[in-house]
Amino acid sequence: MSKRTPIIAGNWKMNNTVAGAEALVKELAPLVKGAKAEVVVCVPYTAIATAVKAAKGTNIAVGAQNVAWADSGAFTGEISADMLLDLGVKYAIIGHSERRTMFGETDESVNKRTKQAIKKGLIAIVCIGETLQERESGAMEKVLKNQINGAFADIPASDLKSVVVAYEPVWAIGTGVTATKEQAQDTCFFVRNCLANLYGQAEAQKIRIQYGGSMNGNNVDELMAQPDIDGGLIGGASLKAPDFARVVNFN
Ligand code: PEP
Repeated sequence: MSKRTPIIAGNWKMNNTVAGAEALVKELAPLVKGAKAEVVVCVPYTAIATAVKAAKGTNIAVGAQNVAWADSGAFTGEISADMLLDLGVKYAIIGHSERRTMFGETDESVNKRTKQAIKKGLIAIVCIGETLQERESGAMEKVLKNQINGAFADIPASDLKSVVVAYEPVWAIGTGVTATKEQAQDTCFFVRNCLANLYGQAEAQKIRIQYGGSMNGNNVDELMAQPDIDGGLIGGASLKAPDFARVVNFN
């Protein structure tokens, strides 16, 4: 395994009310105590305060699923970094494929949100990934390169410690179809090389790259054994404490 600290983040998406969030974090805490990975749960906004309170004194950190690029003002429906920080949030997922495909997120908005997250002291979990059509038509590398170049535009190397990249093939998200360990490794290696083109190999080697897409207890061990996979972004399997704990406590 690499020198990079592994990071396993749950993406609850639009699931769990306040009571459900409290119960899930409380059930999870003893199961992930002593994990070798950084443990994060990215919860709905309404559950943040409760999740932070329930995670107090544990090794679980709380993240959000988006963050606005502006400090404050006329941005109906958005949430600012200060609002998240105020509640104890440490991480924010940015540019998830569901945001890109259903809510008009672009490489430019991902870049603006990422810059704001960094400026405010959040860790940005920047999501990239190709569709099946893009992979099968041979466009995957171009797509990923464009997403990376877009997301990292004008971000200096000194800010990279505040960024995690989540490589999530869109065809593997929520489908039960996982990339093979070879596909996931090869693509995370390619992603790292794109980062090396921007920042040099030494910097790229420090950046943590997660794999996401139907990661679960059955495939986490072989995925986490790959040299360029430093963690996972977990949707479905993060909604039940034992399932998520099994991923966090990978071998
Ligand atoms: C995700 O939403 O980022 C994700 C990877 O979902 P799932 O694990 O359900 O495929």
